[in-house]
Amino acid sequence: MQTELLKADDAGFARAGEILRAGGLVGMPTETVYGLAGNALDGSVAKKIYAAKGRPSDNPLIVHIAAFSSLAKLVKAVPPAAEKLARAFWPGPLTMILPKAACIPDEVSAGLPTVAVRFPSHPAAQGVIKAAGLPLAAPSANLSGRPSPTTAQHVLHDLSGKIEAVLDGGPCGVGVESTVITLATPVPRLLRPGGITLEALRDVLGEVDMDDAVLHPLKAGVRVSSPGMKYKHYSPKANVVILDGTDAQYRAYVNAHAAPHVMALCYDGDADGLQVPALCYGNLSDERTLAHDLFDALREVDARGAETVYARCPSPEGVGLAVYNRLMRAAGFEVIHLGE
Ligand code: AMP
Ligand code: MG
Repeated sequence: MQTELLKADDAGFARAGEILRAGGLVGMPTETVYGLAGNALDGSVAKKIYAAKGRPSDNPLIVHIAAFSSLAKLVKAVPPAAEKLARAFWPGPLTMILPKAACIPDEVSAGLPTVAVRFPSHPAAQGVIKAAGLPLAAPSANLSGRPSPTTAQHVLHDLSGKIEAVLDGGPCGVGVESTVITLATPVPRLLRPGGITLEALRDVLGEVDMDDAVLHPLKAGVRVSSPGMKYKHYSPKANVVILDGTDAQYRAYVNAHAAPHVMALCYDGDADGLQVPALCYGNLSDERTLAHDLFDALREVDARGAETVYARCPSPEGVGLAVYNRLMRAAGFEVIHLGE
């Protein structure tokens, strides 16, 4: 199949809507990353999404809506906590998990009794959802295991020829996937950090737990609350190693290990003292810039043929928690603590 490249205008939204109503798949921009959208009410479409991405079918999909009022049809009930979160953060990069309504096919929820729902703020995502007139299941539009796509070109790189269309809305603003919170537990629980921080969620809800999988690798045999967290994720082909230490320790370690096909993944301004090629992915003093550029940088290390990448360790605070969580998974939790 030839993948159509659509523009983020009314004609592009209308064409995307037509494809989606006919059961096809469309890569669409959101403020987090590009999503691979399909009709969330049709289990056979969900199967096509899993097949195109090579995604394990036990990893559920997030359903995207373009109005708060659409939530009620997808879930058993809308609790006060969901209303509070929606008022504070929707439209935006927050996904809520609630007990699902019968209209959500098992393929979308991967057999779970719950469904994940998000109302994105990106005007093009809203344009596509409204034009389709359907809730859209949309996992990240990458091949499973690869870094999530933050441009239409990333989507084409991974999925060209496998999906009907991609709508190009330029680079994504946040750059990492949505924050995922479950409201289906007695105390709300953060399952995946993202652009909406744990601190911001606690400001609105009071008590919010953080799932163990946010900061640590899952231990064998432990029940998984967010299936996506058990897979090695976000990885480039290169071996990523995180170095935890000061500027000077980082530089000394990287330079001592300089060799062909070794690269540094570091912050703006770090490149000067390094004796290996360096990819700078943002400004240490603003975690949002790190989130914005991380996945593009992880793809770039492959494009440059790197075999080993030494990454600086972001501090796990604010949006930095999301960057830390993604980078840890890209590195398979391989961290070297310098100076110990
Ligand atoms: P992606 O769409 O690729 O960003 O991945 C969606 C993430 O949301 C994965 O980590 C899923 O495990 C998680 N997720 C989706 N639905 C549920 C659910 N019903 N319960 C728990 N986690 C979910
Ligand atoms: Mg994904």
